[in-house]
Amino acid sequence: MLYGIISDIHSNLEALLVVSKELKRRQIRHIICLGDIVGYGANPNECCEVIDELTDFVILGNHDAGSIGLTDLSYFNEGAKSACIWTSKVLTQKNREWLKSLPITLKNEGDLIVHSAPSNPKAWNYILSEEDAVYEFSTFEENICFVGHSHVPITFVKEDSQYRTIQDYRFKLVPSYRYIINPGGVGQPRDDDPRASFAIYDKDKNEIEIIKVPYDIKSAQQKIIAAGLPKWLAVRLALGR
Ligand code: ZN
Repeated sequence: MLYGIISDIHSNLEALLVVSKELKRRQIRHIICLGDIVGYGANPNECCEVIDELTDFVILGNHDAGSIGLTDLSYFNEGAKSACIWTSKVLTQKNREWLKSLPITLKNEGDLIVHSAPSNPKAWNYILSEEDAVYEFSTFEENICFVGHSHVPITFVKEDSQYRTIQDYRFKLVPSYRYIINPGGVGQPRDDDPRASFAIYDKDKNEIEIIKVPYDIKSAQQKIIAAGLPKWLAVRLALGR
């Protein structure tokens, strides 16, 4: 089975449509979204509708929760907070209800799926370092856990009692090892590469591939400015930060 693993869309319709087209071109029919469909960008409603149509499974991210009153906004920095408030004003009732219906975690074919970190999914902690990963590995049982949240494509591996980080764009999974896999962000990448990032997971061949696709950053930026959202949210898209 081939899966498209996408995360952190952040209301960036331009990036999402390019990723969706690339998934179709590669004939990937099963798509899992790791959350943060909204927040930061200017097209929250359109992104909810495209994601609902495109995916088999979707989970809730912190920006989704923040935009529908399910998480305390004091957690967010100023830019993120004002984007959540803006999003909560423009979301349709239907999309608000849809976001409310999303689970915080789920399991698919034995793999765990969480937006932030498996230890306490509602605390929205980040897995940024090997040290973070060592702790997180001790908090779940599955061999593979997919996470988003940091917008950085990176994989942490537990090989017996050794830990290691993989930053390759294509690698094999060893069935006896354990993995925490982040596909990077579709709508606001933060690895200094502004292209939309996602992963293809070949479950039969035990293979992960990180895909990067260019999209129309200028249009996404213009919409952010026109919506009156903080300017930095537009600027950062071109920087991949
Ligand atoms: Zn995010």
